[in-house]
Amino acid sequence: MKILIADDDAVMCRRLEVPLSECGHEIVVCFNGTDAWNILQEPDAPRLAILDWMMPGLEGPEICRRVRQHETDRYTYMILLTVRVDQSDIIDGINSGADDYITKPFDMMELKARLNAAMRNLRVHEDLLAAQEMLREEAMRDGLTGTQNHVAIMETVKQEIARSSREQTEVSIAIIDLDKFKSVNDTHGHLFGDEVLREVVHRIKNHLRAYDTIGRCGGDEFLIVMPDCSLAEAKVVAERIREVILQTPVVADQKEFNQSISIGIATTKDVTFTRPNELIKNADEALYAAKRAGRNCVVAYSPDFAQGAAQ
Ligand code: GH3
Ligand code: MG
Repeated sequence: MKILIADDDAVMCRRLEVPLSECGHEIVVCFNGTDAWNILQEPDAPRLAILDWMMPGLEGPEICRRVRQHETDRYTYMILLTVRVDQSDIIDGINSGADDYITKPFDMMELKARLNAAMRNLRVHEDLLAAQEMLREEAMRDGLTGTQNHVAIMETVKQEIARSSREQTEVSIAIIDLDKFKSVNDTHGHLFGDEVLREVVHRIKNHLRAYDTIGRCGGDEFLIVMPDCSLAEAKVVAERIREVILQTPVVADQKEFNQSISIGIATTKDVTFTRPNELIKNADEALYAAKRAGRNCVVAYSPDFAQGAAQ
């Protein structure tokens, strides 16, 4: 564990540093409150700090107050070390945000026991954060295919559009829908259909760039977000995906089947004020045009095409 020791008394620092290093802890030492505060704000700061009350620069309780005010997800466990033994001092110290309070002179065994308690606390906090992060990720994932779910992919579209307008680049999207998929379920069964969906996603993922994202809109419809990608480039990607799905049969449960897909693509270049819904609507129109054109093809949205479709 990385531990910060802040005390203007160099002998006291040494008394703490030597035995704690021997226990395997990584010790960071500083001799005034300002340095302690700066160290605690670093990205890889110690999460356990032993702070002297009286120090030049900032005093221990002031550091505790500032740490608590600026705390984000990462918790810093702070122990105040002081000669003050009055109950009112202990109350003030704890109220400033300290987790524990040790009076000098202290017993090393007691200090180590308190550090063990601190580490237990930090571990519980870390486990909670990890569980929270896992739940957040699960809530954004489609259970069957492992892609982003509808909510998450819509958020990705929004974020990438915002980024593209900041960076003055183009973002393209593709909406993919499996052709006649209902009849696949009807003919081969729903479990086979599930396998087809998983395999289609697997192949698509293998043919995307690292910074492209795929999500499931629902049913047999998927959306790919391609940042910094023109309509012409998106068309190449979409064609490659269409071929790679069609060419190799999906095999499951001793049955095999060649699945075709239809794809509609659109780009922010054609979108006024780069509104996410408008971009999705354009790609949707292109997808329906692909279905009307007989399926198993890629259609790129263009304003002319929309006028033509309306006529
Ligand atoms: P089209 O070419 O016009 O798209 O025809 P389609 O039969 O694919 O029609 P549509 O896209 O409207 O139908 C989607 C079908 O996908 C309906 C449903 O049977 C099937 N489906 C939706 N979700 C799942 C799923 O999670 N698993 C399986 N196996 N099938 C699903
Ligand atoms: Mg379909």
